[in-house]
Amino acid sequence: MNKSEDKDHTGRSGPALLSIVVPVFNEEEAIDIFIKTVRKHLSYNSILYEIIFVNDGSHDSTLSTALSLQTKEPSIKVINLSRNFGKEAAMSAGLEYAKGDAVIVMDVDLQEPPELIPQMIAKWREGYDVVYGKRICRQTDSRLKRLTAGLFYKGFNRIADFKIPADVGDFRLMDRAVVDALNALPERVRFMKGLFAWVGFKSYAVEFERRERQAGSTKFNYWKLWNFAIDGITSFSTIPLRIWTYFGLLIAGLAFLYGSFIVLKTLVFGVDVPGYASLTTFILFLGGVQLIGLGVLGEYLGRVYVEVKQRPLYLTAKIYENTPMASSTGDKA
Ligand code: UDP
Ligand code: MG
Repeated sequence: MNKSEDKDHTGRSGPALLSIVVPVFNEEEAIDIFIKTVRKHLSYNSILYEIIFVNDGSHDSTLSTALSLQTKEPSIKVINLSRNFGKEAAMSAGLEYAKGDAVIVMDVDLQEPPELIPQMIAKWREGYDVVYGKRICRQTDSRLKRLTAGLFYKGFNRIADFKIPADVGDFRLMDRAVVDALNALPERVRFMKGLFAWVGFKSYAVEFERRERQAGSTKFNYWKLWNFAIDGITSFSTIPLRIWTYFGLLIAGLAFLYGSFIVLKTLVFGVDVPGYASLTTFILFLGGVQLIGLGVLGEYLGRVYVEVKQRPLYLTAKIYENTPMASSTGDKA
C-alpha cells in the first residue's frame, strides 16, 4: 500500500478495477442468475469491473452459457481449464489472471449475498486489505456438517501456528497486494482457507446469512470434505507427525512399568504361564498404533511427493476475454 500517494492515505479513492473470480463446475443453471444478480450490485459503484468465470472442467453447457453471456456483457472473461482440477485450483487460476486493484472471490450459487459487494468495496477504500464474509448462522447446512465444520476449526486452530476464523469461507475481497502474495506462494496443495489466513494483512469481517443454493446442486460430499480437512491440517501443521514420538515414549514407559510388575510378580509368586489373551491384545494394539503412525507419515510423504513433482496447479485450455467494461453510472461511489 502506498501511503504518500493520496490524501486519504490509502490511495484507493479513485477509479479502480474490481475483479470478481467465480469458479464454476457444472453450473449451467446457476450462471445466468448469478450474472443478473451481481450486475445489480455493481452498477451503482462506478468502478470498472471484470467477472472471471473459471470453468473447472464442467461436463454440461456451463462453458457455452458463459460464452453466450460474454457476447452481451464484455466484462466477462472465461478461463477454460483443461479438466476438473477442483475448486482450490480453479480459484488459484482466477486469482492469477485477475488484473483488478481489488479482487472478490465468490461462488456462483449465490449462497453468499452479492449485496455485500458495495460494503466490501467501501471497507477496502477505508484501508482494509482483506474484507471477508463471516456466516452468522449456518441454518442452511445440516447438523452433521455444522458439527464436523466446528470440530475442524477447533482442531485446526489448536495445532496450526495461526488461526483461521471460524465460519469464514472463500467469499472475500482482497487488495492487489494480498492477491500478489497469494500468487507468489509456490505450493501445489492449495488449501485456500488456510493460505488466505496465513498471508495475514489488515482484515475486516462482514457478517452474512448463508442462503440456500439458488440453482444446481452442491459439488461437495463428506468424503471430499474429509480429504479437504486432511489437506488443510497437513499443509499447516507437522504436529500429527510429531505426536508419534510422544506416543511412543508413553507406550515404552508403560511397557517398562508393566514389565517391572511382571518381574516382581514372578519373583514373589513364581512362574505363571498364562498370558495368551493379554499378549495378543498388546501385539494387535501395537500393530494398529504402528500402522496409524505409518499412515500419518504416508499422508505427509504423499504431499511431499506432489510438491516435488512441481506439476502445474492447473492447465488452461483457452482464455476467452474482452476488455473490461465501465459500469453504467459515471460518478464515484
Ligand atoms: N466448484 C468448482 N470445482 C469443483 C467443485 C466446485 O469450481 O470441483 C465451484 C462450484 O461451481 C461453486 C463453488 O465451487 O461455484 C462452490 O461449490 P458448491 O456450492 O458446490 O459448494 P458448497 O457451497 O456446497 O460448499
Ligand atoms: Mg454453494
